Amino acid sequence: MEHIVIIGNGISGVTAARHIRKHSDKKITIISAESDYFFSRTSLMYVYMGHMTFEHTKPYEDWFWEKNRIDLKKGFVKTIETATKTLIFSNDETLEYDKLIIATGSKPNKFGWKGQDLKGVQGFYTKQDLENLEIYAPNNEVCKRAVIVGGGLIGIELAEMLSTRNIPVTFLVRESSFWNGVLPDGESDMINKHIKNHHIDLRLSTNVKEIVSDENGKVKSVIIEETDEEIPCDFVGLTAGVSPNIDFIKLSNIETNNGILVNRFLETNITDIYAIGDCAEQHEAIGNRKPIEAVWYTGRMMGEVLAQTICGNKMAYNPGHWFNSAKFFDIEYQTYGWVNSNKNKLDYETHFHWKHANDTKCITIAFDKNTNRFLGINTLGIRMRHEVFDRWLTEKRDIDYIVNHLSEANFDPEFYKKYELDIKNAYQNQLQIV
Ligand SMILES: Cc1cc2nc3c(=O)[nH]c(=O)nc-3n(C[C@H](O)[C@H](O)[C@H](O)COP(=O)(O)OP(=O)(O)OC[C@H]3O[C@@H](n4cnc5c(N)ncnc54)[C@H](O)[C@@H]3O)c2cc1C
Repeated sequence: MEHIVIIGNGISGVTAARHIRKHSDKKITIISAESDYFFSRTSLMYVYMGHMTFEHTKPYEDWFWEKNRIDLKKGFVKTIETATKTLIFSNDETLEYDKLIIATGSKPNKFGWKGQDLKGVQGFYTKQDLENLEIYAPNNEVCKRAVIVGGGLIGIELAEMLSTRNIPVTFLVRESSFWNGVLPDGESDMINKHIKNHHIDLRLSTNVKEIVSDENGKVKSVIIEETDEEIPCDFVGLTAGVSPNIDFIKLSNIETNNGILVNRFLETNITDIYAIGDCAEQHEAIGNRKPIEAVWYTGRMMGEVLAQTICGNKMAYNPGHWFNSAKFFDIEYQTYGWVNSNKNKLDYETHFHWKHANDTKCITIAFDKNTNRFLGINTLGIRMRHEVFDRWLTEKRDIDYIVNHLSEANFDPEFYKKYELDIKNAYQNQLQIV
């Protein structure tokens, strides 16, 4: 019987396994160095915040795997011998495969800062990171201050997590405004204020120079590059982005760039070896998408698509319109289609921006200034319906249509009734339409 081996038990690997089982009787083995069972990485923050236990982050009961004849193996793969189709583990055990799916995810970036490997200095990605956070930042007596380095989605999550335990947080952000490589200026500015309103010591345009050790090899402070200021702290979170977790692949003849290079069928350069999820890099980006997409739903989509191919129904990865969502403390963020930051705006792209007076809700709609075609929407503090925007993007609607039909896409009709006129007036004023 054909043996499908999957390295990585995250959303990508597990989705592939589940769908291969749905469509076939093949032998399936999932390998993980991290955890016995699949868990939801995006829920890790809620464990620290006390909303759920780690057990609750497991989407399937422990019996599910055996019942579905999916073998689970704990271990770290150190080498892939592609010529003999053999995996070699760190304890020198071996495992043979007929087809191999690499779904090894990401790892937090470390940029060679002095002190980056001290005790109490870590990223926030793995189950072990969560366990270490409980050791170094369980409360504000053990951790009198935490410093977070890097202003992205995981950085702001970590700031929120620590602040729920009343641990003072200094948040160092290299950019001049929070996540302004992605968010348009109006939104980025709103989030700056929101972070400060949560009593986070947000330092913009600020880099770390050095992380300083105490006599036991544990962090005691951080020194700021621009000012040489020394900030005493007991914990440092490194959240300056993630990159594909593929160091061990680089020893093999599987082609890599930043990630494992794949074509539209998620095939690598080696026959019978595929890569999916955070660790995969498209040879050629799909539309405006990035060649590496480190988000949950694309990992799931890749897993589903690859399962079809492996079960004999060859299928290309075609993710459709971009969307994403996140939370910045209390403010929900949603994006559909493409809304670029002011820094990265396309030459034909222009924005309509509406902001609520209380500074916690706003809408930014991107459109083509030559044709008025709708390109995308961002909302902060307002929940929109995915399927509606997905349809409007496919139908290539124009900006007028979007503004006049926004209520159809809104989850909260009461909110919309109240602000519809205000939004339409703002639109007419900004675009001088009479
Ligand atoms: C705190 C946090 C919050 C997030 N929130 C969101 C969100 O709100 N929305 C969203 O879309 N995305 C979010 N993400 C990103 C999302 O979680 C990832 O895109 C997704 O989990 C990646 O899944 P994956 O299956 O590709 O890899 P992973 O989940 O990283 O799984 C890979 C697994 O492979 C194992 N592995 C790696 N190398 C080896 C080896 N050599 N041998 C054995 N095992 C190995 C790893 O230990 C790991 O268990 C978040 C991420 C984090 C860290």
